[in-house]
Amino acid sequence: MNERMLLRGGTLLGLGRADLLIEHGLIRAIAPSLPQTDAEIVDVSGKLLMPGMVDTHRHTWQTLLRGLGCDWSVLDYLAAVRVKLAPAFSAEDVYLSNYAGALEALDSGVTTLVDHAHCINSPEHADAAWSGLRDAGVRALFAYGFAANDPPDSGHFATHAARIAHARSWCSMRGSELVRIGVALSEMQIPWAETRAEISCARELGLPLTFHCASWPVPGMSQVERLSVDGLLGPDMLLVHCTHCSDDDLRRIADSGAAISATPETELQMGMGFPIIGRALRHGIRMSLGCDVVCSNNADPFAMMRLALQAERGVTNARAGLPVRLELSVARMLPMVTSEAAASIGLAATVGTLREGMQADIVMLATDTLNLSPMPVHDASLVTQAHAGNVQDVLVRGRFVKRAGKLVGVDLPTLQRKLSVQRAALLERVGGPDQLLSELPMLLRHWNIGQAEVGAGTRSA
Ligand SMILES: [Zn+2]
Repeated sequence: MNERMLLRGGTLLGLGRADLLIEHGLIRAIAPSLPQTDAEIVDVSGKLLMPGMVDTHRHTWQTLLRGLGCDWSVLDYLAAVRVKLAPAFSAEDVYLSNYAGALEALDSGVTTLVDHAHCINSPEHADAAWSGLRDAGVRALFAYGFAANDPPDSGHFATHAARIAHARSWCSMRGSELVRIGVALSEMQIPWAETRAEISCARELGLPLTFHCASWPVPGMSQVERLSVDGLLGPDMLLVHCTHCSDDDLRRIADSGAAISATPETELQMGMGFPIIGRALRHGIRMSLGCDVVCSNNADPFAMMRLALQAERGVTNARAGLPVRLELSVARMLPMVTSEAAASIGLAATVGTLREGMQADIVMLATDTLNLSPMPVHDASLVTQAHAGNVQDVLVRGRFVKRAGKLVGVDLPTLQRKLSVQRAALLERVGGPDQLLSELPMLLRHWNIGQAEVGAGTRSA
């Protein structure tokens, strides 16, 4: 790691031209012009500097499945990924997916991931998933997933109590400055006592929690109300989707200090309803964004912001008829992948803004491209114009992980070959691509007779 580095002559998002001094991985000074010292000088003139972005909901283990589900409904997804493919993932598959997925994030300017890791089929899978993120050099909240994917005869986690016991010991032993540990709850339709046990486990260990919530309507008491009635909602929670939250639910979430992660592309494709962004913001809830699954959709953070913005505008404009003004401004979007996203996982004082004392997680965009010319690239209009291909340099904790358009220390052709080989082997193990939806009729039968009949851990994206 460079101990002292001066980024000279860049344009800081929202600020204009400035120099930025990094010492020991931290931003030490920002000023229009800083004096020359013994720091390594890096000329960044012509580049736009912005905070490293934060994706608050991604199942990184699904990187190996990229693009398979572009036309999948949610039931297709559940049948193929959660029922068929997840149990067939080896620990090596999970490692490779997380390693390559985290590199993809860095490549596109996402320096912090919330990895909802719900493919922990064995203790080795947990080690592999965590190691993949660590080796890629991404900053992450690795959320240990309780979801049960393992085949019943595998010998791993034969009971829910066994899984909790493993999580308790594993989570207390892991974690690093860059890859912290959290917990991802099973879907909340599993027996409520088990959900409570998972929450208790996280709280005893002092770990943040994340979970899919209110992705579609459920009869009776809502999930949020149930959590609230039992006194379980809290500021250590990141709820995902919440597309079917009532206003009462949103008030409960706001009162608790919990945050919401919306995943516009999966929510729109899979029929989870419209992203909750506008309603949640009106309730004063902290909002952030995630790409969820690359098996179906894209992980470009700029595309994610743009889709979220325009989907919300579509909803409010349709209600207004011909709108006099747009309710959601473009300036509200960047914080959802920077400062607000960081705050939603307890990193408000660590990353998400470029200011003195923060970790030097920095993205630099090349502006000598036609898609960013001419425009005042220091402001939020960037959201509607930029794409991941504009990301030229990326620093995590003051260290270049991408430089001059290339990931540092990554043998890309070899990695791509490995991905192709392991994906082909995985698909062969489940009977080939033609068999991916073979469990759909079973799932539909169960779905038609009520959600309680569907196997635990198979109900949400
Ligand atoms: Zn998800």
